[in-house]
Amino acid sequence: MQYQPGPYEAQAEVPAPADLAPGVAGEAHAALSWFDRVRALLVRTGLPPEPAVYDILWRYVRDEDHELSLAVDRAMAGDGLTISVVMALRETHLGQLTPAQVNQLIAEAHDQAEALGLRIQSGQTDLADYGRAIAVGGEKLAGPLDATALATLLEQLGAATASMQAANGRLMAELDQAAAETRALADRLIHAERAAVTDALTGVMNRRGIMAAIEKAQEEAQAAGTALALAVVDIDHFKRFNDRYGHAMGDDVLCFVARHLADRLARDGGLVGRLGGEEFVGVMPGVGLQAACGRIDRVRAELAGQVLRSAVDGSSMGRISFSAGVAEHRGGQSGDELIARADSALYTAKRLGRDRVVPDRS
Ligand code: GH3
Ligand code: MG
Ligand code: MG
Repeated sequence: MQYQPGPYEAQAEVPAPADLAPGVAGEAHAALSWFDRVRALLVRTGLPPEPAVYDILWRYVRDEDHELSLAVDRAMAGDGLTISVVMALRETHLGQLTPAQVNQLIAEAHDQAEALGLRIQSGQTDLADYGRAIAVGGEKLAGPLDATALATLLEQLGAATASMQAANGRLMAELDQAAAETRALADRLIHAERAAVTDALTGVMNRRGIMAAIEKAQEEAQAAGTALALAVVDIDHFKRFNDRYGHAMGDDVLCFVARHLADRLARDGGLVGRLGGEEFVGVMPGVGLQAACGRIDRVRAELAGQVLRSAVDGSSMGRISFSAGVAEHRGGQSGDELIARADSALYTAKRLGRDRVVPDRS
């Protein structure tokens, strides 16, 4: 895909090749010009030059993920590319776990397994030593023994047993600790896995999570020959709400709408994810186009019928509504295609005046 620079990026000052140190050629030269674009963006946005920020800007200037590039352009043209927007973009487009973090967890798991293996090996050595001591004792017992020799032998066997018990005790304690560490590691992996598909702000699935869920639902609908509908939901005039009540209150509304949608759709086995910004997607397995429209419209009417009040002072913030486009899954189409059809119905809903649900007619 040919990269089209966004409105801000286009203004980034890229040094002429002559400004670069002599001898910097080829790939290094190109990388330096990417770097300079990132640097110019850092200066322009006032974002802190942290790795997380740099990572997003690097991907942006190289257009590694076009959706991400568009989202950055939108943010810069709108309320600005702030650190919270960058973190939300990381969440949506990269998941929370960096490859380095995954490698770290894998390395830890590997070290634990190795340490446990060594302990078990040394436990086996202890056991073998004990076995030999018992065998030697047994042989001696079979032969002629006087009282003193017998006492010495029993003492030796007692010492071997005590030493075995001590080794066993250490091994048991170490095994307990290893089991606890393994459980903690498994918890971290499960948590990381969940975080990678969860939107940090609203708690519903992020784009990555919901795309995977859509594809799974499509496969299931295909296999069972059942219907599947999808709605793209976009809050109406959300920018106005942000401008009037502030971004933080806007975030609260996003959480509220996400919960409202998730709660209502979950009652019938539906799923909700945040596509990005103030846009959500509802997945409704087993539901045809008309029924899905009816369902989303009830959720819409219920939301639009409520007056939002500030949790701080109870003052009214008016009503909030959304528009939605609904499309039904067709065999052989991808998740992106299904979303695109719902999205174009959403566009019609906006054009017709918002606060409504429009079915896909393509
Ligand atoms: P429309 O009815 O046409 O959808 O108008 P709109 O204002 O909702 O749409 P537009 O795309 O013009 O603006 C979307 C706004 O959503 C811009 C941005 O400030 C806001 N937004 C996107 N993500 C977030 C977020 O995470 N938190 C907050 N508070 N606002 C966000
Ligand atoms: Mg939108
Ligand atoms: Mg909107």
